[in-house]
Formats: sequence, structure tokens, C-alpha cells
Amino acid sequence: MGRGTMTRPHNPEREVAEIDRASLYRSHGATSRDTGRYRSVIDEVERFWGKVDRHGAGGCWIWRGQLNEWGYGHFRRTLAPGAHATVKAHRFAYRLLVGRIPDGLTLDHLCGNRACVRPDHLEPVTNAENLRRRHARRRAEETRS
Ligand SMILES: [Zn+2]
Repeated sequence: MGRGTMTRPHNPEREVAEIDRASLYRSHGATSRDTGRYRSVIDEVERFWGKVDRHGAGGCWIWRGQLNEWGYGHFRRTLAPGAHATVKAHRFAYRLLVGRIPDGLTLDHLCGNRACVRPDHLEPVTNAENLRRRHARRRAEETRS
């Protein structure tokens, strides 16, 4: 392998997948060194859920951390000491509790609350379908007012 090929492209899906591996390691009697390596990933999951209020209106799980300008939750992950990545909180929650989000799909908030990270309030859909639903909801709101 030549120089410059060592930098791995950032891949949050893969990073989160290591969480499952961590519990596997622990259940199979990992050495203390292995456990230490994965400990930070487990701490991160606990830190994530510490920012979620599961008693929101309508059963929503409300993100209490940082929101972006569109109202979606942001979570700052630590991938390695000094290496951070900001991910969307609802996508992270879905990945933790449900599984991988199919390639190219976006998560539609069925509850209409963008700060919500409850996986069963989210549905993976294509971008086109997401836009179609957004317009339909807007039309419905305009009809009501
Ligand atoms: Zn919700």
C-alpha cells in the first residue's frame, strides 16, 4: 500500500456498526484491552440517549441537543481522540435501534416533528417520496387555515 492510502473515507454507518460488535466482544469474554477499545463507543451511545426526552407530545422522543437551521437534531460523535463528525440525531437513533438505512434513502418523520428521534416515527423513503409527502402536508395545512 502506498503512502496516502491509509486515510479511510469517513463512513458513519460503519462506525455505528462497531457498536454491535462491542456487545458481541463483551459477551464472549473480550480481553480488557478489547473492552477498553470499544468502551468509548458504548459511552457515546449513553451520551446520545442522555440528550433524548422520551416524554414528548404525541409519543415523540425529543432531541434536547443541538438543532440545525431546519430543526433536525445534530449529534457530535467522537470517532477517535480529536476526530469528530456531526451526524443527524434521528438517523443515528434509527441506526442504533432498527438497523442500516438503505442506500440513498432519507428518513421521513411520520409525526412531522423534525426534532423527534423515535425510530417508529421514522420511515425510510426516497427523496422524491419525501418531497411529495412534504408538499401534501403543506397543502393540508393551507386547507385547514
Ligand atoms: Zn415523533
